[in-house]
Amino acid sequence: MNTEPFVSFDNIAKRWNGQLGVENISIDIPEGAFVALLGPSGCGKSTTLRLLAGLEIPDEGSIRIEGTDVTEMAPSARNLSMVFQSYALFPHLSVAENVMFGMKVRKVPKDERLKKLENALRITGLLGYEERKPGELSGGQRQRVALARAIVAGQPLCLMDEPLSNLDAKLRHSVRKDIKKLQKDLGMTVVYVTHDQTEAMSMADLIILMKDGHIMQAGTPQELYNIPQNTFAAEFIGAPP
Ligand code: ADP
Ligand code: MG
Repeated sequence: MNTEPFVSFDNIAKRWNGQLGVENISIDIPEGAFVALLGPSGCGKSTTLRLLAGLEIPDEGSIRIEGTDVTEMAPSARNLSMVFQSYALFPHLSVAENVMFGMKVRKVPKDERLKKLENALRITGLLGYEERKPGELSGGQRQRVALARAIVAGQPLCLMDEPLSNLDAKLRHSVRKDIKKLQKDLGMTVVYVTHDQTEAMSMADLIILMKDGHIMQAGTPQELYNIPQNTFAAEFIGAPP
């Protein structure tokens, strides 16, 4: 049996001129899991995600993906995709062009690009929107384009940093379900940053609760809810949304 975690952080620390980002971060993520990095603003969620993406290099510790030490590898060598809260779509390109952009850069043949495009648009409910520009879409549709772009990348690991925070409450709820369904259907491993405990509780298999650059508790939503290991966990998980 393969018991090697899909992603592992071993005692990671990151500082900037003495300013603490994160410290003592050790996490094991099984393949196909939906993991939420949860905690208040400034607790180190994005830093942790950026370290995994390779957008930051740790001062201490190591990171492995599928058994390979990626600690100092370039982002493009890590076989992952990312979805940000700001969508990061090109405003002058159509939906189709935005979704296919990365494939074009990687010189994926055109017929394969179109096939993957159609599949991703179908999964995200965007068929028929190929020619629209981002400015002609709602916030929820724009976030779906960003999801479609992550899907066509075809990577087994997808990192998301507060992807719903620019959406209104109703849309947040429906896109939340879309993301969860996609993750299950595609068998993707997702690492998902949020400060919203209801989002983490409803979506995640594993929650990593953080405060001031440290992990306060890691466990299933039930474990954090039923057996909080400290006052912070009890108060944060129990707080009203
Ligand atoms: P979160 O995503 O949980 O809101 P961050 O990971 O963005 O938190 O930030 C964690 C801490 O690291 C904060 O104190 C932040 O100011 C600091 N930090 C993040 N990035 C930088 C940077 N590039 N330079 C200096 N400090 C940073
Ligand atoms: Mg952040």
